[in-house]
Amino acid sequence: MILKGFDDLKLFLKKPRNIVIIGHRNPDGDAMGATLGLQYYMSKKGHKATVVVPNEYPEFLHWLPGSENTYRFDWQNSQSKKAINASEIIFLLDFNALHRVGHDMQKTLEKYPNDFAMIDHHQQPDDVKYMYSDVEICSTCQMVYQFIEMNNDLDLIDADIATCLYTGIMTDTGSFRFRSTTSTTHRIIADLIDKGAENNKIHNNVYDSNSYGRLLLLGQALSNLQILPAYKTAFITLTEAEKKKFDFQKGDTEGVVNYALSLKGIIFAAIFIEDTEQSMIKISFRSKGNFSVNEFSRKHFNGGGHDNAAGGRFDGSLEESTTFFKELLPSYTTELNNSYEA
Ligand code: 5GP
Ligand code: MN
Repeated sequence: MILKGFDDLKLFLKKPRNIVIIGHRNPDGDAMGATLGLQYYMSKKGHKATVVVPNEYPEFLHWLPGSENTYRFDWQNSQSKKAINASEIIFLLDFNALHRVGHDMQKTLEKYPNDFAMIDHHQQPDDVKYMYSDVEICSTCQMVYQFIEMNNDLDLIDADIATCLYTGIMTDTGSFRFRSTTSTTHRIIADLIDKGAENNKIHNNVYDSNSYGRLLLLGQALSNLQILPAYKTAFITLTEAEKKKFDFQKGDTEGVVNYALSLKGIIFAAIFIEDTEQSMIKISFRSKGNFSVNEFSRKHFNGGGHDNAAGGRFDGSLEESTTFFKELLPSYTTELNNSYEA
């Protein structure tokens, strides 16, 4: 755990400040829950807080309280830049390095004259002035709760903040089942329910809001599944044409990789998704046990993340990406066969 400049940050925030809060590119439930939750908290403390995210987030997160006031840097560029230029400090939530916001926004942030404060649970964080980093914690939303707790402000958590933070903890823990979920997580979740998070409603909003197309896309993904028992590995592919056929919308492939990991005996799973717009193959990796997909993705696929959940990219065709992946596996045979005991 790294806690840096916290007392100075507290002093800085004694006066009402103009704050911008940023999440990573392709924001997920944790990024949106954390940025919106922190925004409500900062507003309650008398600050002016604006959430700016690099690009659009999935439809199943649009119901989040405060969502209507966020700026997307790519298509609300002038409002986003205006907010950034007017701010006295920027909070970076749920990401560890400036490049995670995407090229254009990164360039803007690199010119930012004031200080950054990071709250994040990814490995190898960039060094910024104020930092709360803990790779042991399941979600940035749990860290925002603990940040509020460090400020002795748990009483300020209302139904909106509770709803936002609950959502991110829920999505980043796979509904409280990944091994990062601790008794502390459950205690925090209990407190968030007491403070007004409607758990049943939140689960429904996020997980039971599928379009028919999304289910058909899942069906396609599952029929593309390949299993490599010798490496306890399974992977899924999706081509651009398959995405089009089932009316792909942002967020539709979220969680699909977990189906590969749900197979008995599989401890390493991947999904390779063709993205012709960005001319790359976007990859998600998941694992069980000690096999670090963060290291694997860093080393071979220009990515990173956590030990058991990471992302990466491949420049080339879908076919080339999976061929490359399959060629890598033999050198991990021992590791893959010994990293997890069911
Ligand atoms: P996902 O597979 O859901 O996109 O991402 C899994 C985890 O890895 C998330 O915590 C995400 O922030 C991180 N991640 C995804 N893509 C990248 C990447 O390209 N680089 C790094 N450093 N982390 C990533
Ligand atoms: Mn997260």
